[in-house]
Amino acid sequence: MPTVTARRQPRAAASRPRSAKRSASPSSDLPFCKKCDSLRCRNLPAHGKALKEQRDRKLARDVHQDAEMIVKLLFGWCAEKSQSKSNGTSAGLCGDKLHNQRAAVAVLLRLGEKEYIRAVQEGGLEELQQEISYIADAASEHGPLRSGKLINLGGDRCDNFEKLSPCTVHGHDDWRQCRAERMAANFAANLQRLENDGHHVQARL
Ligand SMILES: [Zn+2]
Ligand SMILES: [Zn+2]
Ligand SMILES: [Zn+2]
Repeated sequence: MPTVTARRQPRAAASRPRSAKRSASPSSDLPFCKKCDSLRCRNLPAHGKALKEQRDRKLARDVHQDAEMIVKLLFGWCAEKSQSKSNGTSAGLCGDKLHNQRAAVAVLLRLGEKEYIRAVQEGGLEELQQEISYIADAASEHGPLRSGKLINLGGDRCDNFEKLSPCTVHGHDDWRQCRAERMAANFAANLQRLENDGHHVQARL
């Protein structure tokens, strides 16, 4: 009798006698389901998918926050139109999401073209493209993006619970503010260290 589960299984397993299937008991090699916190998940495909979607949403949220903070810290820019209080709290953004994204592309174009034109005129285009390709490839990995010399994107990232505003990592009562303050403090410390090391940060923007 063809069932939904039988169809998914390899032919050999599907044609096995039913008694053999019934006697199979959960063993240690069963995958652990984080959603139901159990080895006896009754709906692993759906739960696995839900967890993956949840993780992808979190990665997307992180990347929007990172883009906002990078532009804010390096160029002092913040979207004039801000997120509504509730949306902003769940997204962890202070600026409007779409405006932030458009701004990030505009900034990338401005700075990218500047680097490109410099490389064409002074040489080193191939090296520039190799370096950028390396950075872009590395960004496909899961987890936080690679930190820069000045801006730390990883570490003990602030987080919140659903639509509530407190930072669940540091206890601050507004996780967006907590994150902004921590990143700004880290940025200032890194900048100071760079200056102490005798490297001069050129303000050639
Ligand atoms: Zn489950
Ligand atoms: Zn802002
Ligand atoms: Zn925090």
